[in-house]
Amino acid sequence: MSQAQKSIKKSKPQTTVANAKPRVASYQNYINGEWVKASGGETFENLNPADTREVVGRFAASTEDDVNRAVEAAVDARDKWRKTPAPRRAELLFKVGEILMRNKDALAREMTREMGKVLKETGGDVQEAIDCTYYTAGEGRRLHGFTTPAEMPNKFAMCVRQPVGVCGLVTPWNFPMAIPSWKMIPALICGNTLVIKPAEDTPLSTINLVKACVEAGIPKGVVNVVTGAGATGAALVGHRDTRLISFTGSTETGRKVASVCADRNAICSLEMGGKNVQIVMDDANIDLAIEGALWGAFGTAGQRCTATSRIVVHKKIYKQFAAKFVERANALRVGDGLKDSTDVGPVINQNAVNKIIGYIEIGKREDKAKLACGGEQLTTGEHQHGFFIQPTVFTDVAPSMRIAQEEIFGPVTALIPCDSLDNAVEIANGVRYGLSASIFTKDVNQAFAAMNELYTGIVYINAPTIGAEVHLPFGGTKATGNGHREAGTQVLDIFTEWKSVYVDYSNKLQRAQIDTENL
Ligand code: ADP
Repeated sequence: MSQAQKSIKKSKPQTTVANAKPRVASYQNYINGEWVKASGGETFENLNPADTREVVGRFAASTEDDVNRAVEAAVDARDKWRKTPAPRRAELLFKVGEILMRNKDALAREMTREMGKVLKETGGDVQEAIDCTYYTAGEGRRLHGFTTPAEMPNKFAMCVRQPVGVCGLVTPWNFPMAIPSWKMIPALICGNTLVIKPAEDTPLSTINLVKACVEAGIPKGVVNVVTGAGATGAALVGHRDTRLISFTGSTETGRKVASVCADRNAICSLEMGGKNVQIVMDDANIDLAIEGALWGAFGTAGQRCTATSRIVVHKKIYKQFAAKFVERANALRVGDGLKDSTDVGPVINQNAVNKIIGYIEIGKREDKAKLACGGEQLTTGEHQHGFFIQPTVFTDVAPSMRIAQEEIFGPVTALIPCDSLDNAVEIANGVRYGLSASIFTKDVNQAFAAMNELYTGIVYINAPTIGAEVHLPFGGTKATGNGHREAGTQVLDIFTEWKSVYVDYSNKLQRAQIDTENL
């Protein structure tokens, strides 16, 4: 159970919190153009993971009633928004981008307070939302369909995109503004209305994105947000009027979401776990590969779905790489993400600490692996009130070990020796996930062979496993997803359905597949 879920259980109705510290800001749901309390009056607290004594804000603990109201508002707004020309919808979205740009620094600071990652990374998170907004708003003047020859004379054939209707969006805490933007902005440009349920650990950044939509003038009912725990998300996923559910989060929850959607025949797009790999060949620029691995493994304290949790290194350079990498990992400074001196911020909550430390214990018990650095929670001095874990490296890990197979989602990575490119690719592909992979090599033949053989949604050459750009499709194979891709123009295939249109101007009945002898 996450920290916020615990708070939901503990929190009292809002009417009775009059004696709470006055400086804690309160935030409400946004439904049908108004900021409103949860119908039951309940709230939950959003805590700073670097110092849990700091309450970032108090948020509405939404009930099924609140979800129903939000979906109803989105249903009511659906037709008007669908009929608003896409270039006009785009103008409003460009304004959203401008508002985010203007407030980027403040938004990044608020995000670091609620999520923990260092300021340059939260700045990047906001920037990704800006990039997504500008890029996707441009689709307002494209949203291309296609024309194609018809099989009969005097007949015209074309394909156009149509919105799907009301979208339910459920998002995680690790990219609290970027991921909501990847879903909200494409949904809107395509002419859908939406209800978003952000993660209970980081609702503020999503509310900030919704505020930008409000300030930009997006009409009432088009964008709605309900905050709360998993049950609020479940109510949204199960609501019969949400035609599409777009979910990013854990594989376990994603599977539940998929089965609910299957049951009621809703469109479902899932973005889930990863066990991403960086391969380092014997001809690689080792210093560059180390820089890449440090950023990939310990950026966002390893809490990215594309984090580098396995590093497969050619045995000819393995010892050299391992020694330098461990030295550099040991030198990383763990602390409050608001401080300039911090390299690695806290993990999100106590639940995450338990899970990560649990995996470290598993790694220590696994036969061959060696704990080469880190391995501990930091609990004293500046770390005593937060959720801090040392950057942790296991060496001599075998590909079948649990720490090399399961997603840990923390600052822990496993070094695995290999003896050839084929061996490296086999190890890389030998997990249930397929999100991101990278290879460091100067040999163009090896680079192209790897590019071809790595069965993942994203491949990097001479760059770490993280760093996706918004105009390329994002997503993964196998247990990472269910075949959809966010970002790029590919995201339009999630948020629209194709309509094939046949125009017969022959003035007679022409039967496809049958009246072929007249041709
Ligand atoms: P994590 O383990 O990263 O917190 P989760 O998959 O539990 O990932 O959460 C991702 C999002 O899904 C959050 O917004 C969470 O509240 C929501 N969620 C959790 N359980 C459910 C559920 N059963 N149905 C719908 N949404 C859920």
